[in-house]
Amino acid sequence: MSVQHAELVIIGTGMAAIGLARALRREGDTRSLVLISQDSGDAYSKPLLSTGFGKRLAPDDIAQRDTTELERELDATFRPYNRVTTIEPDFGQLTLAPARTDHTATAAAQHCRTLTFTTLVLATGAEPQLPLSLPAEAAPRCFSVNDLDDYRRFHAALGDTPARVAVVGAGLVGCEFANDLHAGGHEVTLVAPETTPLPRLLPAPPGQALAEAFSHAGMALHLGRTPERIDLDAEDTLTLTLDDGNRCQADVVLLATGLKPRTALAEAGGLAVTEDGIAVDRLLATSHPGVYALGDAACVDGISAMYVQPLQASARALAKTLCGTPTPVHFGAWPVIVKTPLLPVVAYPPLEPPHRWQIDADGNNISALAEDKNGRLIGFALTGRSVRRKVELSRAAPALLG
Ligand SMILES: Cc1cc2nc3c(=O)[nH]c(=O)nc-3n(C[C@H](O)[C@H](O)[C@H](O)COP(=O)(O)OP(=O)(O)OC[C@H]3O[C@@H](n4cnc5c(N)ncnc54)[C@H](O)[C@@H]3O)c2cc1C
Repeated sequence: MSVQHAELVIIGTGMAAIGLARALRREGDTRSLVLISQDSGDAYSKPLLSTGFGKRLAPDDIAQRDTTELERELDATFRPYNRVTTIEPDFGQLTLAPARTDHTATAAAQHCRTLTFTTLVLATGAEPQLPLSLPAEAAPRCFSVNDLDDYRRFHAALGDTPARVAVVGAGLVGCEFANDLHAGGHEVTLVAPETTPLPRLLPAPPGQALAEAFSHAGMALHLGRTPERIDLDAEDTLTLTLDDGNRCQADVVLLATGLKPRTALAEAGGLAVTEDGIAVDRLLATSHPGVYALGDAACVDGISAMYVQPLQASARALAKTLCGTPTPVHFGAWPVIVKTPLLPVVAYPPLEPPHRWQIDADGNNISALAEDKNGRLIGFALTGRSVRRKVELSRAAPALLG
């Protein structure tokens, strides 16, 4: 067994990891760099995954660069389909295992199972939470889509003909996929324990407006309902039995029941973690010197912001810090733009429950302003034509991490 050393190892090849590698090279940094991923390592924009069916995008249209191109661009070594199984920050060492037995990268993984590093960055993202155990025969037809490889599998399972798709979960990922699959010509049923869509982003009235837009477009909605079983019958149809006894049928199920920061590796390596991610300060430094975290995996000064703008700001700041200029990260008042063309939604949810929501509605065009007890704006939710107020309200709202 050989041991390879890199001055910087980044675990992950998502937008946070590749963003950091690019920002470092832009800073003129020349240190040796290895990026490890349990997936294909292709660079892609994850938000495009929930727009692919409506735009008729094949998975290869979403992949921007493969690892060979990235290695050239970044003067780095990529180790796709390799899972980091342990990190030992005290010894500057980690171990790898093949992430897929059917892939040629397996051989490379077996060749070198240990890597040593001077600096380590964890950009391990978040993982889907799957709430119910699936019977073995139904499992191959139930998907969660959190990376490009997942999207490839889901896309292949749907094929070119319209299918019945049950989307479970009405958070950002569930709502965006429901809208997108509908735009792609599929028959969508949305099942969710939430009584209105996007409960973490919207108060009830704009959430209700989105539910009505979905329903008006022809989707079947079962809100406030949890699937208790998913069975596959002899005709190859999946039946979801809901907690009120109702049933709905589908050819394919998409489980979009939440994402949780991946912290297990960090925790086992002795780093401080919380429910909301790997604990880092404003310099993105973990509890261990020389080890940093960013992106969906990280909880920055108590803030878990699992969106693109915060990770881009983190990548820029961390690149400067690693190049010798300590640079605390700053998150602005960056609203989330939900990709539901059936009813456009923009939301900047308040960090604390608001004293009150001030709601102004003209049909589906809703402005909901979250105010503290002194009447100060602390967040907002906009639907329909009201999304035009996004810039004005973002300027007035407090920064997420000022
Ligand atoms: C469908 C969808 C649509 C979205 N749309 C938007 C949007 O419109 N706007 C927005 O701001 N945000 C959106 N988001 C959120 C945004 O995409 C994420 O915040 C962002 O992509 C997270 O990037 P990341 O690099 O932190 O994590 P990830 O992209 O999850 O990358 C994690 C990486 O870590 C690797 N990894 C993890 N553990 C290990 C291990 N043990 N060993 C080796 N490798 C490991 C994985 O293989 C992967 O390469 C969306 C998310 C989804 C799922």
